[in-house]
Amino acid sequence: MAFNHRSFRRNLGRLRERIGTVCEKCGRSPDSINLMAVTKGFPLEVAATAVEAGLTTLGENRVQEGVGKIKAANFPAQWELIGHLQSNKAQLAVKCFHRIQSVDSVKLALRLNRMAAANQKKLPILLQVNTGEDPGKFGFRTEEMEAVLHQLLGQDGLAIQGLMTIAPAPPNLESARQSFETLRRLRDRLEERLALRLPELSMGMTFDLEPAIAAGSTCLRVGSGLFGPRPK
Ligand SMILES: *Cc1c(COP(=O)(O)O)cnc(C)c1O
Repeated sequence: MAFNHRSFRRNLGRLRERIGTVCEKCGRSPDSINLMAVTKGFPLEVAATAVEAGLTTLGENRVQEGVGKIKAANFPAQWELIGHLQSNKAQLAVKCFHRIQSVDSVKLALRLNRMAAANQKKLPILLQVNTGEDPGKFGFRTEEMEAVLHQLLGQDGLAIQGLMTIAPAPPNLESARQSFETLRRLRDRLEERLALRLPELSMGMTFDLEPAIAAGSTCLRVGSGLFGPRPK
């Protein structure tokens, strides 16, 4: 199905309405939530359209595909990696992406740290937690996060800005709500026990953005809700 500008505008309007409605219900400001446009599977023109509409944070889940678009883009944007990163592509990812949301092992984090530090960079990252204990998903286990942070604190090449999660399959609003609440409680506990700040909570996609906002999401990652079904 070809991308349609008019339906994109209509979709964006509907999304803003959905976000506004939940925000009102739970007393949050829509300004406290960033709407990331997930452009994976779509051509660069779609990303350009999103940026023109004010959605300047773009999400890609594959390194090669994302890097291709980043290099070809003639517009400024914040490009973030939201898919599993294989270690042989870490160097490329550090060089090209502005933030990596999908850091899912200590080994990968330490590798990214070395690469960033070697370039005098501090790489913004989120730690992905498999809060729904979905065997088909990457991410740390909730219980190991305190130990993980102990190992990663003080690594100069990393700016750990918060946590990310994907609700477990199959899509279900109640299990999504539970996994988002788990992430928020985990964040609160880590901040208290380790005396640090983890302000970013990346959670919620097209299907489950309502429970994500209610649980404290600061970054919604939306693809199909903006652009329609992804071309195969
Ligand atoms: C594809 C993807 C999304 C967007 O999903 P939609 O259902 O299209 O909104 C969000 N987060 C991650 C990690 C993804 O891979």
